[in-house]
Amino acid sequence: MTLLELLKKIRPFVKPYRKLVVATLVLTAIGSFAVQINALILRYTVNTISELMVTNQPLQSGFHLLTTISIILLAKEVIYTLIQFGQKFYGEKLRIYISRDFSQAIVDRILSYRMAFYTSTDNESGKLQTRIDMGISSLTRLVQNFFIDIMPLFANAIVALIFIFLANVYVGLVSLAIVPIYFYVSQLQANKLSGFRRKMRTFRETKNNGIISLIDSITVIKSFVREPLEAKKHLEIQFDMTENQLQTRRTSFLFEGIKSFLEQFGLVLIIILTAYFVLNGQMTIGAIMFHVLLFNNVTAPMRQLHRIYDEINDAMIYSESFFDILESEHEIEVSGTYIPEKIIGRLEMRGVWFSYPNGTEALRDVSMIIEPNDTTALVGLSGAGKSTIINLLDKFYAPTRGQIFLDGIDLADYNTTELRKNIGLVLQKNHIFKGTIGENIQYGNPLASQAEIEKAAKQAYIHDQIVELPMGYDSEARLLSGGQQQRIAIARLFLKDPAIIFLDEPTASLDAIATEQIKQSLDAIKKDRTVIIVSHSISQIIDSSHIVVMEKGRVVERGTHDSLYDEKGTYYDIFTAMANSLNIEKITQSMNS
Ligand code: ADP
Repeated sequence: MTLLELLKKIRPFVKPYRKLVVATLVLTAIGSFAVQINALILRYTVNTISELMVTNQPLQSGFHLLTTISIILLAKEVIYTLIQFGQKFYGEKLRIYISRDFSQAIVDRILSYRMAFYTSTDNESGKLQTRIDMGISSLTRLVQNFFIDIMPLFANAIVALIFIFLANVYVGLVSLAIVPIYFYVSQLQANKLSGFRRKMRTFRETKNNGIISLIDSITVIKSFVREPLEAKKHLEIQFDMTENQLQTRRTSFLFEGIKSFLEQFGLVLIIILTAYFVLNGQMTIGAIMFHVLLFNNVTAPMRQLHRIYDEINDAMIYSESFFDILESEHEIEVSGTYIPEKIIGRLEMRGVWFSYPNGTEALRDVSMIIEPNDTTALVGLSGAGKSTIINLLDKFYAPTRGQIFLDGIDLADYNTTELRKNIGLVLQKNHIFKGTIGENIQYGNPLASQAEIEKAAKQAYIHDQIVELPMGYDSEARLLSGGQQQRIAIARLFLKDPAIIFLDEPTASLDAIATEQIKQSLDAIKKDRTVIIVSHSISQIIDSSHIVVMEKGRVVERGTHDSLYDEKGTYYDIFTAMANSLNIEKITQSMNS
């Protein structure tokens, strides 16, 4: 990204605060004149004193000078302090507002993205967070530095140059000549460093991800005694990072040296030139101090120049992926316009093929009809494509080929938000948010009253257990057991009251007793709705009116339990394997004895 592109992208974010920008600019301009007063006063003082000396007047007659310069310098300091305060405060205000807007914009944006965005490896949560954080912080730093540090310094430099030129064109030219050389060296420095910076970003992302996955898999690491291996992996990243950091420093220091030399060289030239003019009688002695101070005002911001390049480079590097995220038009969830009055719940897949964005072909020519107000079970080995079907029916992904119809209308034509209002999803582990039980149930309908929340909890057979807790509905929901959390999720669905429900292995993470306890809640929520259940639980499969059997992304059999069992095909194999794993013979023996 070029600087111009970057500025164009930042512009809409700065635009709402135009008044603040103007106020900061005006204060900056006034401030830059105030800065030059010291040089003017010094020249005036030195000239007045040397005048007294030259004309052989008693130096005491110059005492009035002290009063004049004290008043002027004091007044200038007071004004300058106020200006600086205002300028810094407005600059900071701008930064805070813009940072807030950046942050809100990215959250609003990514919430509108389709599922594929989140499951892409580029957007693993650690990586995504680093990209967003780095993007926002580098952009806001750029805005802050620009308005608080850079602009005042440059305004000072320009005004100082004007003063030097007004005093003497030759001295002005020498001062001006330093500027492009300085720019060139700083740019060289920044270019050299940008490669190191890019690498550093990758290292940081890898390191952050590494630590997150380390913590996630700590049990496995410890049980396999792989601590040394993990430590070694981390050490390698650290070594690369250290090497990179050292190279960065070495380059920085080298360039700092060159720039410092340039500055001193310019200063010496200015002193020699001015002294020449003084000796020549073309200038008063006060000019020496005057020029030195003004030249200092010109070079002060130059010293910051590489930092500015750095900041801009940083902003260009880090904001690139930030704006990529902010502007990924193709990631936005597609939505049709059709808003159904009432959903009946008849689903039909016609010749559906589907591949995930990474290329995995998960469904191959799948056709099926799911009857409304009935329960259909999807059965198949792990990886057969069962969850993928639910992903497609919920419009998290669109079919690569083929069509899906709900009540005779293509799913693609449905308004996605309205469609999802009519679909409920219960997963193996339902996300319980940080907050109370009441709040977690209310997530199903933010407008629900306490009475409605309790009614839903009763329907999900969890109310009695909630009221027994010391804090009742105000207890922290995350402290509940897995089975209880699953029932909270079902209560949430009762509040939402969708016509269609997808249950994706709802009891897979529960023990036998919890599974038994949640059965009542599941049976209750399934009543009078279109239900698709993916499950490895024999009882849930047998309970379903229709069964669809999948293998390697294809539908291989469909029918009722009895008909499929008699077919002695894939279903029969899976069913008998499941039944054998239960060791039914031994179980019946124990139960009969
Ligand atoms: P099942 O639910 O029957 O166990 P899935 O529908 O989850 O099977 O998976 C079907 C295939 O799609 C598998 O090969 C799986 O690895 C792949 N798959 C599932 N989710 C994703 C994803 N988000 N990205 C890429 N491939 C995926």
